[in-house]
Amino acid sequence: MPAQTSGLHHVTAIGGAPQRNIDFYITGLGLRLVKRTVNFDSPGTYHLYYGDEAGSPGSLMTFFPWPGVHQGRIGAGQSTTTAFSVPAGSLGWWKQHFADLGVDSATTSLSSDEERLSLRDPDGLQLDLVSSSITDPRAPWDSESVPAEFAVRGQHSSVLTVNDPVGTARTLTEDLGLHLVSETEDRLRFAAGPGGAGHLVDVIADPSADPGLSAGGTVHHIAFRVPDRDTQSLWREQLVDRGYSVTEILDRDYFTSIYFREPGGVLFEIATDTPGFDIDEPLLELGRSLQLPPWLQPNREQIEASLVPIELPSENNPGTRGMRG
Ligand code: ZN
Repeated sequence: MPAQTSGLHHVTAIGGAPQRNIDFYITGLGLRLVKRTVNFDSPGTYHLYYGDEAGSPGSLMTFFPWPGVHQGRIGAGQSTTTAFSVPAGSLGWWKQHFADLGVDSATTSLSSDEERLSLRDPDGLQLDLVSSSITDPRAPWDSESVPAEFAVRGQHSSVLTVNDPVGTARTLTEDLGLHLVSETEDRLRFAAGPGGAGHLVDVIADPSADPGLSAGGTVHHIAFRVPDRDTQSLWREQLVDRGYSVTEILDRDYFTSIYFREPGGVLFEIATDTPGFDIDEPLLELGRSLQLPPWLQPNREQIEASLVPIELPSENNPGTRGMRG
């Protein structure tokens, strides 16, 4: 049976100062830090995971925040916009919320049933908040900064920009099992599984776009969901058979991963839904302290000394959110 992803798993981007990243994604976007760990391939750098209460697949946005990182360039061969799903009628609240934080945002509309608020994070990463006429049933993280009635429900879609969309479209449909749901002059929309928020990939064809440069303020890769490692292993064989250069299965502690590049140049990952983020700390305490994989535990002292200190807003943990209405 051909591989068929059930939707988006996470997006990973490169940021700058870790504290600024934390402040923006917790206080600005209202997400929860669900894991504070390090880049397993470069343990002197944090890997910060944000999402809903449990860090459910489809809610996750992750960062490698490198203090003093060079500014990258958003361009062809990248995921150029990361869109989050918010409730219908909430964009006015969000615009004011970001204005209060000194962040400019602008409303745009791509179709009659979708409104977007576009903004950039402190490192220049392009983000959209999308409110759709179709209700997103996912439970939000309820925080002091962003009350549940307005809060992000999870990812909405990733927007890929490529010079030539043909190969990208083929990978999405023939190798990952998405289907084309709409087509406008410059944009193809693909959906996984049931479609709707958390299952969408938009492909923008821009033959003249300069190639993106991977550094601060750019997306490093996007990840699609697979239920478990056995299925992942089958998909890996299938992708190799079809000519992709695919990594071995890598253990990311909270999921396992394979990576390959699609023909348009975007780095794709396939990540498992299991085991999840409460494997090494309780759900109530997610993000509170630095977690390391077993093979890095012996170097904990040295790793902690090489990381810049960060402070987590108290609203990140339910037990410390205080009494609010
Ligand atoms: Zn990833």
